[in-house]
Amino acid sequence: MTWDELEEKCKNCTACAISRQRHNVVIGTGNKNSKIMFVGEAPGYHEDMQGEPFVGNAGALLDKMLASIGLSRQKVYICNILKCRPTDNRDPSYEEQASCIGFLREQYKLIRPMLIVCLGRIAAQALISPNFKITRQRGSFVEKKGVLFIATYHPSALLRDESKKKEAWEDLKTIKRKMIEMEIYDEQKL
Ligand code: SF4
Repeated sequence: MTWDELEEKCKNCTACAISRQRHNVVIGTGNKNSKIMFVGEAPGYHEDMQGEPFVGNAGALLDKMLASIGLSRQKVYICNILKCRPTDNRDPSYEEQASCIGFLREQYKLIRPMLIVCLGRIAAQALISPNFKITRQRGSFVEKKGVLFIATYHPSALLRDESKKKEAWEDLKTIKRKMIEMEIYDEQKL
């Protein structure tokens, strides 16, 4: 599938009931050739209105998190498990995730990242392990089929509980060290 085909399929997708309320399908943003991909759970209100992932306060915090390790949203690829906003900002249902995960797989095939950062519990449970405990298992790398996965807190969780920020910043430093070790950090600065 090409990017154009993927975007067309996402925009016309009505597999879930939430497609009836959406203003925009939020596919992803950033560098489509990046070696690192950040994956959250689903668009929120601002993302749905603007058609862009991680905008609003959570997006501003994600920008700061990226900047703290010399990255930016132009250098990495950012998307979500779900491409449509669950109504009332609830967690995406298992059925919605199962319906939408195929689009993320296509994004993965087009980008071929070496490192995937799960932002929050929902993404980590979908991509790393169904029983993933974000408070206990964040900050450690897991290899699956030659790709490294790591999870840290979702920026929205950090806005709700500032005490988690120290751990999140440690995770970011871990990610930067691994990128240097994998020799993909300089590439990100191009
Ligand atoms: S969430 Fe995904 S699978 Fe469900 S309607 Fe939106 S694009 Fe389609």
